[in-house]
Amino acid sequence: MQLMTGQDLLEICQQYDMHIYDVALQYEKSKSGKTKAEIIGVMRNHLQVMGESIESGLNTEQEKLQGKMIGGEARKLRERYERINPVCGLTMARAMSFALSCLEVNASMGRIVASPTAGSCGVLPGVLFSIKETHQVTDEQMVQGLLTASAVGIVIAKNACLSGAEGGCQAEIGSAAAMAAAAIVEIQGGTPGQALHGAAIALKNLMGLICDPVAGLVEAPCSKRNAIGTANALISAEMALAGIESIIPFDEVVHAMYEVGRTMPCALRETAEGGIAATPTGKKLKKEIQS
Ligand code: SF4
Repeated sequence: MQLMTGQDLLEICQQYDMHIYDVALQYEKSKSGKTKAEIIGVMRNHLQVMGESIESGLNTEQEKLQGKMIGGEARKLRERYERINPVCGLTMARAMSFALSCLEVNASMGRIVASPTAGSCGVLPGVLFSIKETHQVTDEQMVQGLLTASAVGIVIAKNACLSGAEGGCQAEIGSAAAMAAAAIVEIQGGTPGQALHGAAIALKNLMGLICDPVAGLVEAPCSKRNAIGTANALISAEMALAGIESIIPFDEVVHAMYEVGRTMPCALRETAEGGIAATPTGKKLKKEIQS
């Protein structure tokens, strides 16, 4: 099965009356030789690890936070949304909190699911587990959401890139948000076309975002960008589900993201030599952490 572009995905969906998650399952079967049951088992395992990362970050003091620039933010958000009606709504506040939680676990060398990368490991679990609670999503739909997200990630990886070192943070958080937006759309009953519009909108929203980790550690700005990534995914999915389309098709947005990444100077691609990493405070923190 060929899965080179978003257009390929849509054509297969239309021809065989499938969802993107059905195509992702067929693709994985053809590539891995695994059965449907085995693939679903792997997806369930990923979801379990995601859930454990969220729980661990929210309920356990993370002891080995590398740079100690983050820690406790997930709980702060939870304390607030449990106490009062959050200004951005419960689904978004929860998703942000879950995403921050995953990043705290990642910074403590704990177990996370790179989705698509370790630096962006909070976005997809954040939105999936948040809408699971607020929108009564079943376990089967959670697996479908993960499969939808994987198909979008595969297309981005084949036509652009997923790492901050290659394409800037737009490639990491932008791709994670695109994957998550498509997953939400299909979980909520949207069409494959709407899912790719959601993904395109999410990727465009973060186009040009540089990678500038303070002291070279995946803590700041990474953790807050994961929180923003969940918000971006939810906003983009909401628009797509309402029938709002991306003016630029998904495949062209992916190509544009790649081109923007290619023109980014090295200082803005994970070298920690530009952006907020190069601010006086960023440099001071680096010195303190490395001393
Ligand atoms: S700033 Fe760089 S390291 Fe941090 S999440 Fe973005 S791409 Fe990853």
